[in-house]
Amino acid sequence: MRVTTVGVVGAGAMGSGIAALAASAGCRVVLLDIPGDPDPASPNRSAPARTGLQKAIKSKPASFMEAAAASRVRTGNTADHLSWLAECDWICEAIIEQPAPKQELFAKIEALMKPTAIVSSNTSGIPMAVLLEGRGERFRRRFLGTHFFNPPRYMHLLEVIPTPETDHAVIGAMRSFAERTLGKGIVLAKDVPGFIANRLGVFGMVATMRRMEQHGLTIDEVDGLTGSLIGRARSATFRTGDLSGLDVLAHVTRGIGATTGEDFALPAWVHDELVAKGKLGDKSGGGFYQKTKAGTLTFDWKTKEYVPQQRLEGGDIGAAIRLPVAQRLPAIKSIPGALGAFIRDHVVDAAHYTLTLAAQLAHDIVAIDRAMEWGYGWEAGPFQVMDALGLDWLREQFKAEGLDIPALLDLAQGSFYRQGEYLTFDGTYEPIPGIPGRIALAGLAASGRVLMDNGLSRLLDVGDGVACFEFRSKMNSLGQGVLEGLEQSLRKVEQLGFNGMIIGNEDARAFSVGADLSLVSFAVSAGAWDDIDASIRTFQNATMSIRRAPFPVVVAPAGMTLGGGAEFTLHADAVQAHAETYMGLVEVGVGLLPGGGGTKELLMRFTGELQQYEEVDLFAAVKRAFKLIAFATTSTSAFEARAFGFLRDGDRISMNRDHQISDAKQRVLDLAPGYLPPLERRVRALGREGIGNLEYALWAAKEAGQASAHDVRVGRAVAYVLCGGDGTARDVTEQDILDLEREQFLSLLGTRETQERIAYTLKTGKPLRN
Ligand code: NAD
Repeated sequence: MRVTTVGVVGAGAMGSGIAALAASAGCRVVLLDIPGDPDPASPNRSAPARTGLQKAIKSKPASFMEAAAASRVRTGNTADHLSWLAECDWICEAIIEQPAPKQELFAKIEALMKPTAIVSSNTSGIPMAVLLEGRGERFRRRFLGTHFFNPPRYMHLLEVIPTPETDHAVIGAMRSFAERTLGKGIVLAKDVPGFIANRLGVFGMVATMRRMEQHGLTIDEVDGLTGSLIGRARSATFRTGDLSGLDVLAHVTRGIGATTGEDFALPAWVHDELVAKGKLGDKSGGGFYQKTKAGTLTFDWKTKEYVPQQRLEGGDIGAAIRLPVAQRLPAIKSIPGALGAFIRDHVVDAAHYTLTLAAQLAHDIVAIDRAMEWGYGWEAGPFQVMDALGLDWLREQFKAEGLDIPALLDLAQGSFYRQGEYLTFDGTYEPIPGIPGRIALAGLAASGRVLMDNGLSRLLDVGDGVACFEFRSKMNSLGQGVLEGLEQSLRKVEQLGFNGMIIGNEDARAFSVGADLSLVSFAVSAGAWDDIDASIRTFQNATMSIRRAPFPVVVAPAGMTLGGGAEFTLHADAVQAHAETYMGLVEVGVGLLPGGGGTKELLMRFTGELQQYEEVDLFAAVKRAFKLIAFATTSTSAFEARAFGFLRDGDRISMNRDHQISDAKQRVLDLAPGYLPPLERRVRALGREGIGNLEYALWAAKEAGQASAHDVRVGRAVAYVLCGGDGTARDVTEQDILDLEREQFLSLLGTRETQERIAYTLKTGKPLRN
């Protein structure tokens, strides 16, 4: 059962987002909404679906991974084009959250769907049993719930909700399609209101607000306590509320309250002072918080006015936040005063509710932890949090609060997780189910598969004669330690006679943010120019050694892949990128140019493609490289990185981050038999004439007020390297261009403006325009 054609009905926030994700992944998509005009001849018949698609195209952050993917989506309306769904392998309903229209739609789909199609609903709260009323057995076997999170491209979680009648093959096919093609993290949930993530997430939100009122705290204080400190997303409670929308929150709490009979009522001020007045969060320009030119304001629920934000920072709480999560949580036991009392009450509320409901929501506690990690961005799921707090402490708190001890807590022997096992609802400990297709680097390291470790980088044996070199520095920045680690690792892989090496890691945010600027800045202030020259050489040798290694090296970038991180990637034999790869040579931002072979590599690559044609104008290729470097162009996805030329056609993309290392390993194994390192290349450098043309463009940018004098200086240095210096046109080697990179890098580093840019960026994390 292969899914290649997808039908999405409902082109609202969710439907258009799901369509954009599936199209980005390469599926053909039919996107339908209600007719925009009762007149069948009207040109506006399909306007609602078209509008939905347009919104997805323009959305920020982008719903599509590359603009061109929108051409895979065909828009239509449910009156004229329902028959298009007959071609679809998977039909996903994402229309208005009401049973009757959904049931009517499923009746029509039943009549036309192909026998092998899978049908799903994206409902957030209507029981599957209700949606299936009136449907026949064949439909029931092919139906399940697929609950995406908003925005579908960026939220990793997909709750899959089979019914007792869903075919196992359908569950399996949906699961593998959603995991591999759409890149989602799958959690099987039971068919109960709110499923897992929203039931617990929304409970937490409402419970937090009540305790906030009880303890008389402010929104700023509560967000300071309910974020990273307790293993939750940094957006904590109220920032998360503003991000999801207060109207959505009001709607979901009302829905879950009505279907569960539990009290999910939000405080009156949320409805009266915010929702009713259109203060719905980020989408309406303000909610619990409001951004103004003078700074952020926070809603004061006592006076019903916005007041300047006063973040809860520093002190014991600030210190605790820097600890690993397992040590961080116990810190809440000793926070004094109302802040401490509040946060202890809150974690106790959340733990008690989770323990009581767990078996109703999920098949195991692992699913619950994953749902909160993937759907709400928590660093640690509720059961990991309870383990970190200590189960005896929890028991005492429950007793002190007059709460019962939930049966699941009584089953636990010391903790919910122990040595790779978790507590089942039957009270036994079983191995934690792996994520299919995932090679967990942290797990390999823990089980002793370390081939090299120098503190800032390490080499792991990932099996089948493949090693993975991992950066371990802060934000994976590249300094001496990492480069030495790379050199040792390349030697080790060769000594061991391995098939090849991956360069990759599991960092949630960055493959690498590039060279460590603080070291550069330190060397400049010490006037250690010879050392800097030697460091750039070392960096160039490191990237070139990736190319020269006698075995294949596959680089696996994900997230921020900037500067030196991009240069490492450019030198790979093959790249296995995660779809969410934000790649760019951003050195000009700090007044430098890519000096680790990045300038050279783009030049070689773009001119190399053209050189085989006679009488071709190589300037177009040089200009292409120049623009990427001079504008610090950064991709917003791996697909865009490919369109820009940072990735080649033969480089591959993993939609699911959990599969990336295993995909990269497969790529090494594909390349290994008979592998020969690439030959050294030569290119025709354009010399003085090329520089002149690029200088003209720089001059024009300066005249138009788009570039400062220093921007022009930096741009000229980039042009100089790309044209092989200002002599006459001539053939040059890779080493010639590397030497020019180094020379120009040093010369820029000697300027006051570049030094100011570096100092400013180190201090603020932002670029300085000077
Ligand atoms: P939305 O209001 O943005 O979009 C719904 C779309 O469905 C609209 O374009 C509407 O014109 C269309 N529609 C309504 N009735 C229709 C019909 N009979 N036939 C065809 N199209 C019809 O809503 P949304 O936020 O995209 O939610 C869609 C579904 O996804 C709901 O079931 C919702 O509960 C669920 N959901 C929403 C979120 C979220 O965060 N917004 C998250 C998960 C699930």
